[in-house]
Amino acid sequence: MNEIIHSDILIVGGGSAGIAAAVAASSRGLSVTVIERNSFLGGKATAAEVGTICGLYEYSKNPESSYIVKGFTKEFAEKLQERSGSSPLNNKEGLHYLPYKVDAFRDICDEYIKQRGINVLLDATVENVSLKSGMIETVTVIHNNENILFHVKAVVDCSGDSVISKAANMSVIKDMQYQAAAQVFSMEGVVEDNESRLGMIMMKALRAGIEANEIPAYYDRVYIVQGSLQNGSVNLKLGIPVPVTYEKGNLEEIQRMAREFVQGVSDYLVQHVAAYKNAVISHIASEAGIRIGERTMGTYLLTEDDVLSSRKFPDAIANGSWPIEIWELDRRVKMHYFDLDNAYQVPAGCLQAAAISNLYMAGRNISATRMAIASARVMGICLQTGFAAGCMAFAKAAGVPREDIIEYLQNLQL
Ligand SMILES: Cc1cc2nc3c(=O)[nH]c(=O)nc-3n(C[C@H](O)[C@H](O)[C@H](O)COP(=O)(O)OP(=O)(O)OC[C@H]3O[C@@H](n4cnc5c(N)ncnc54)[C@H](O)[C@@H]3O)c2cc1C
Repeated sequence: MNEIIHSDILIVGGGSAGIAAAVAASSRGLSVTVIERNSFLGGKATAAEVGTICGLYEYSKNPESSYIVKGFTKEFAEKLQERSGSSPLNNKEGLHYLPYKVDAFRDICDEYIKQRGINVLLDATVENVSLKSGMIETVTVIHNNENILFHVKAVVDCSGDSVISKAANMSVIKDMQYQAAAQVFSMEGVVEDNESRLGMIMMKALRAGIEANEIPAYYDRVYIVQGSLQNGSVNLKLGIPVPVTYEKGNLEEIQRMAREFVQGVSDYLVQHVAAYKNAVISHIASEAGIRIGERTMGTYLLTEDDVLSSRKFPDAIANGSWPIEIWELDRRVKMHYFDLDNAYQVPAGCLQAAAISNLYMAGRNISATRMAIASARVMGICLQTGFAAGCMAFAKAAGVPREDIIEYLQNLQL
């Protein structure tokens, strides 16, 4: 028998976008519930331990990192920086990013949820959606082997994979080719305190091993998570040499390869690189990181041209200061930049589902092409679209005009 719950706003996914959406929606007196499949919050930030937040700062060669966003995203980043004891880093291209500690990210999510009195169901998944007159009326969720029927006024899909659209049998934006997956793990007992020197020594040894046919060619896809080398502990990110296809068994194959790769690389480094001679694996992130999922079509589709021409929109709700970043099954990341000291904007139409009037999307789930989402998926932008989608869902549920909430968001965030 179904338990029946009324929640004005239902948020699917408790990653960076979902937390921001929950904070935005709950600040205004409506009941908000977050449904999260994992047993903890944070999404890719904590499950895949990606290690740095991009998209928070201006794209600029000024060595000072200046925020490109205000409001909740800035507040979240400032807390994270303080708790992580980190500072923004930048590279010669003008990209700025914040290294963070995974525990700090998770704690901050937990604190927001507690402070705002937001109802969270962990280990819960969406089973079914019922529609009436082009609107979502109920969402069935499975939690502790029981069905819970949520009566809702608005839904925000922050699942990264258009879970709601699929449950409602709507078509979704699929790609011909998805970005490569990656696995993060940590080693401790490393004897080197300079991160770029460690990276160079490590790559030299791996390339020598590949040339000598001691290790497979894909062993060159080992990267240091920037800013992670501290007190002899370093986080390494491995590009998994299995294409992401979303076909049956694909995720299991990626995870199996990720485990094998972690073991193989760490063994090789211990045996062949002096700095790793006494190092051991101290931790493996619980999820292999899948970068891109299927998206829901909105009333606007963000394109590569919008990103690369730094396009601005009258209904903008987020600033995008990160370039298009494509990871394929080779070592080199492909970056496509817009002009330095510029940024594009994400319009509200990317967050409003075209086919269902009370469904909103945020994070890596927004309405965007393969190239555009390769920029808009970074967490600084997910936090912004999350907060905006939470406000838009509130406006729908409370009968506030769309123009008013967009004006409010622009003053608050941009
Ligand atoms: C390897 C890798 C490296 C990256 N590096 C960086 C980086 O350096 N900097 C940066 O800013 N970004 C980086 N990213 C991108 C960034 O981490 C993600 O795009 C971002 O975290 C997505 O946030 P989100 O909230 O949209 O989705 P997610 O973080 O994916 O959260 C979605 C949540 O929904 C939950 N969920 C999914 N399906 C269901 C369901 N059916 N029912 C209930 N819950 C569900 C999931 O468990 C998850 O918690 C990287 C991503 C990867 C994979």
